Amino acid sequence: MRYSGMKVFLEGLTGNRGWKPVWRDPDPKQEYDVVIVGGGGHGLSTAYYLAKEFGVRNVAVLEKGWLGSGNIGRNTTIIRSNYLLPGNQHFYELSMKLWEGLEQDFNYNAMVSQRSVINLYHSDSQRDAYARRGNAMRLAGVDADLLDRKQLRRICPFLDFENARFPVRGGLRQKRGGTARHDAVAWGYARGADSRGVDLIQNCEVTGFRIDAGLCTGVATTRGVISAKKVAVCVAGSSSRVMALAGMRLPIESHVLQAFVTEGLKPVIPGVLTYGAGHFYVSQSDKGGLVFGGDLDGYNTYAQRGNLPTVENVCEGGMAMMPMIGRARLLRSWGGVMDMSMDGSPFIDKTGVDGLYFNGGWCYGGFKATPASGYCYAHLIARDEPHPTAAQMRLDRSISGRMLDETGRGPQPNLH
Ligand SMILES: Cc1cc2nc3c(=O)[nH]c(=O)nc-3n(C[C@H](O)[C@H](O)[C@H](O)COP(=O)(O)OP(=O)(O)OC[C@H]3O[C@@H](n4cnc5c(N)ncnc54)[C@H](O)[C@@H]3O)c2cc1C
Repeated sequence: MRYSGMKVFLEGLTGNRGWKPVWRDPDPKQEYDVVIVGGGGHGLSTAYYLAKEFGVRNVAVLEKGWLGSGNIGRNTTIIRSNYLLPGNQHFYELSMKLWEGLEQDFNYNAMVSQRSVINLYHSDSQRDAYARRGNAMRLAGVDADLLDRKQLRRICPFLDFENARFPVRGGLRQKRGGTARHDAVAWGYARGADSRGVDLIQNCEVTGFRIDAGLCTGVATTRGVISAKKVAVCVAGSSSRVMALAGMRLPIESHVLQAFVTEGLKPVIPGVLTYGAGHFYVSQSDKGGLVFGGDLDGYNTYAQRGNLPTVENVCEGGMAMMPMIGRARLLRSWGGVMDMSMDGSPFIDKTGVDGLYFNGGWCYGGFKATPASGYCYAHLIARDEPHPTAAQMRLDRSISGRMLDETGRGPQPNLH
């Protein structure tokens, strides 16, 4: 079924009886060409691009819960490509270009909204660092402009410009950044993959890998053994636990990250704003809620819930940046388990076992990467060679010393 305004209109006239389930609910077959472990954004987009771009359609996505139950449905929906280092810049810009055509591509309303991302600066040295980043972005063909206080005041008059400790001095803007509706992204990719023959199998947890003489030949699951020519793992915050089933220890830690939403307000925030004197980022949903977040909770965990000290810390960041947020009532908060790598950058790579592939380590930033991650992972699986834009996202980075340390914080996952 193709979605269109006309279809919505006609269905409205006929009692909305013509809508069909968006994907099938098949039983697993005994064998596939490719089995993808993890039905989050990255698993679903990988399946979609494998089928659409590389013609590999005998594919299953195995998800232990329901599609979108992980971080793809828990994030703060920010998309951007404002990166400094060449190893990241081209990859995230590929993702941004894919976001720009995504809804037409998979014929689903993912509510991609390019309302801009502005990173605030509060000192001369921070302005210089942002000028450097903006220049690096422009050299790589990515849009960026540096706003001074006067320009910023016109866009966001509500910021605490005169804050005694951290006055707002200006911001680095990427106009093409913004937000997308996170679960609609999962549903759009799921629908596109399913319609090309991919089996999306929910409530199917992978409990082990079949590895014979250095070759992966399939997986053990709660719904039986499934054979595969290639097995591709992308389980986000569960990466270290799942890859341990294949005997691998990864340079990854798991942490919880919380997000928050307020009651609906009239439109006030023009895009995404990030605080430069602490860790706080905020945007406004189409329903009017202020959606915001901040730092990780700071300890290793696999729990999808956080603790109150971080709630206080995040809200303090919000109050310092825009005191009027103190008048908004908080409706909900939730947590997701983050896969933090040692340099803050991800991995899309083959492993030491033939036929076993790995995608993970996305830290805070994996939602915006969803399209490019799926595309590049599909490229690696189908052609057995890395896509040029993901060529530095190798698993041996920490052994070879070729770190991709965007924020310059060293091997401290909790700080990235
Ligand atoms: C609170 C929060 C806010 C965030 N905000 C942003 C943001 O604004 N912008 C941004 O770019 N990124 C953001 N992120 C990060 C982003 O959400 C993640 O990096 C990204 O979603 C991870 O990839 P995924 O979608 O594939 O993960 P997931 O959706 O978590 O998918 C992994 C799936 O694997 C499944 N799985 C695990 N183990 C098994 C198993 N053994 N067998 C089968 N299936 C298994 C899980 O159930 C899960 O569904 C945020 C994350 C959180 C938690």
